[in-house]
Amino acid sequence: MSQKKPEKLIDEKDIRFDNRKLNEMRPVKIEVGILGNADGSAYIEQGKNRILAAVYGPREIHPKHQALPDRAALRCRYHMAPFSVQERKSPAPSRREVEISKVMREALEPSVFTEYYPRTAIDLFVEVLQADGGTRCAGITVASLALADAGIPMRDLVSACAAGKVESRIVLDLSDVEDKSSDGADVPVAYMPNLNAVTLLQMDGMLTPDEFEQVLNLAVEGCKQIGQVQKEALRAKYVTAKEVATETEEEAEEEAKE
Ligand code: ADP
Repeated sequence: MSQKKPEKLIDEKDIRFDNRKLNEMRPVKIEVGILGNADGSAYIEQGKNRILAAVYGPREIHPKHQALPDRAALRCRYHMAPFSVQERKSPAPSRREVEISKVMREALEPSVFTEYYPRTAIDLFVEVLQADGGTRCAGITVASLALADAGIPMRDLVSACAAGKVESRIVLDLSDVEDKSSDGADVPVAYMPNLNAVTLLQMDGMLTPDEFEQVLNLAVEGCKQIGQVQKEALRAKYVTAKEVATETEEEAEEEAKE
């Protein structure tokens, strides 16, 4: 994974260094239900990002003093593996990881009916195996699917995507080199499409009010695109599971006849 910064990130034809158009997202691939031991799980590839999410719960909460009398405590841990970036990253939780764990929880909590499970814990682990910019957004997207896969009642899926400014142009879904471009800005957004509600909005860098509006609209469009991929990934798991169940039932009936 070469991280050498190209001389120009966007050419005169508005094509980005990785051949994307300004409003084009990196390729996204999602799989739901891939960890046998977790109650719910999902995996996402977005460009070079590779992220796993696992959910346990609702389950008994330890330590007990963290129990909430009126709802489940949603506890999130975002973690980057030491091998997820070119320079070895310390496995100990950094300030950045503590911050991202918090914003991730806040982005996801409005989507979950936590009030159905008072005094319990819903534990969510987001493990970044390979990072290339935009991991908090991809982490929220994949975590929302892991929560759905765990069968936890939800108001909506949460889809997340960043938009920003690179070399004076407004772009969708910044990769690591674009994120680190000098005069740029990065605005990660999480969005619940059916409720039309934004649950995460951060901004790094400088934008005029006009630019900010364009960036926000573009990020929400990106979230809507991600939402389609999320739905397809859920459907793929449950349609396949249903087909297998039907086939097994049919086989059992055949055997019973013999
Ligand atoms: P996000 O991943 O949500 O964009 P940041 O803007 O904080 O979050 O980080 C941008 C990118 O910087 C990450 O996706 C990752 O590629 C890179 N990065 C973050 N932490 C480290 C680190 N400790 N060492 C090397 N690269 C890192």
